Amino acid sequence: MTISGSSTPGSTLSTILYIEDDPASQTLVKRMLEHLGYRVLVAATGLSGIDLAQECLPDLILMDINLPDLSGREVTTRLRSVEQFKETPIVALTAQGQAVEREKAFAAGLDGYIVKPIDVDALPGRIGEYLAGRRDRVDAETLARGQAAYSREVVERLEAKIRELEASYGQLKKLDNMKEAFIQLTAHELRTPLTLIYGYGRLLQTSPIVTQMMQDSDEISGLIVNLVQAIDRMSAVISEILLISRVASGQTEPVFNIVQVANLVTRVMDDYRLPLEQRRLTIQTELDQAPTTLYADRGLLALALGNLLSNAIKYTPDGGTITIRAVEEDGQAVISVRDTGIGVDPQDHLLIFESFYTANSTHLHSTSKVAFRGGGLGLGLVICKEIVRAHGGKIWVESPGYDEASLPGSTFFMALPLKSRQAGALLLTEVI
Ligand code: ADP
Repeated sequence: MTISGSSTPGSTLSTILYIEDDPASQTLVKRMLEHLGYRVLVAATGLSGIDLAQECLPDLILMDINLPDLSGREVTTRLRSVEQFKETPIVALTAQGQAVEREKAFAAGLDGYIVKPIDVDALPGRIGEYLAGRRDRVDAETLARGQAAYSREVVERLEAKIRELEASYGQLKKLDNMKEAFIQLTAHELRTPLTLIYGYGRLLQTSPIVTQMMQDSDEISGLIVNLVQAIDRMSAVISEILLISRVASGQTEPVFNIVQVANLVTRVMDDYRLPLEQRRLTIQTELDQAPTTLYADRGLLALALGNLLSNAIKYTPDGGTITIRAVEEDGQAVISVRDTGIGVDPQDHLLIFESFYTANSTHLHSTSKVAFRGGGLGLGLVICKEIVRAHGGKIWVESPGYDEASLPGSTFFMALPLKSRQAGALLLTEVI
């Protein structure tokens, strides 16, 4: 082993980063070096050590080898790949005294190797030397041996990690399937009694005695109407949960067909004609640049567009305007729903497409799905996202921000690839 550089002690103002997971060693070294005037930072894992080093650019790094995540050797190799750490002295402080460990350490890029137990009298002098420029080196043959052993070790660890990740992924997939099965089972179990309750609700409304009672008493009429509305809502929630669970677990395969874009828009608007009128919302369409047809699952696409329209109704105060637009752009059909409502904060632009995420507190929601800020589970946009994804498309929102006073509005876009339309046209030609 050769030593280069002088052995003058380092500046007491130097910063030393100690990467070590053992609390006793951390305390001992930290106290000792701070007593000598060094600034000492401690990281307990390899990854946090890399982050702290990049944040604080220490003058010297003391490195334990056996760390809980990356090894001290791997941390060193990683740091050496960053320009700022090419010359920083990195010195092992480890209990591993075997020659092979030492050889691998030098192959990984370490400049020195100090074996524990820590010699409190000698350590400050050694640190001073490395700060002043000392770099321990090994001969070429030893280095080559170290490099071979180190490469083998890294590849073996990588293999073990990949196997571990594959096993965890399999486990997670299994749990995810169990979760989906549980959701579907629960929803089905709830639906069975609910169908009965639904039936009784309808019977109540149509029974001559009850109809008479409803006519005679506003209170009874109100109770029954509320009851039936609550049953409808619960039934819709269960359907929503079942649908999202099926779509999310890839159980809803789109059934592709030729879809007339204008017809699709009209059909969806018709479904919401009544609430649009009740809420005095103006609805307009911009379809002059729209593709005539799309190759898509008509039912699923209508559901997605319906969800966007229902949201536009929910988040736009009475008297606002909603615009449904479709254009052909870069081989895609881009369908958008623009509103003059409360808008969406930019920090929520991605989050609202996650399950059960509602951007604003739900206590503000009313129970009706079409009232201003009407009720919702935060599943509508997830359903849209999954439907669009099943069609190979993209969904996103554009909005300057959320403001109930100035009403900046939002526009939700669905971009669906048109190339499948050609496949659809071909199919149609073949059939004809
Ligand atoms: P919800 O059933 O709560 O409406 P969604 O998944 O449809 O669930 O929407 C998630 C959240 O995104 C909503 O709670 C709302 O905060 C926000 N959001 C959706 N559409 C709009 C819109 N057109 N304008 C403003 N905010 C919206």
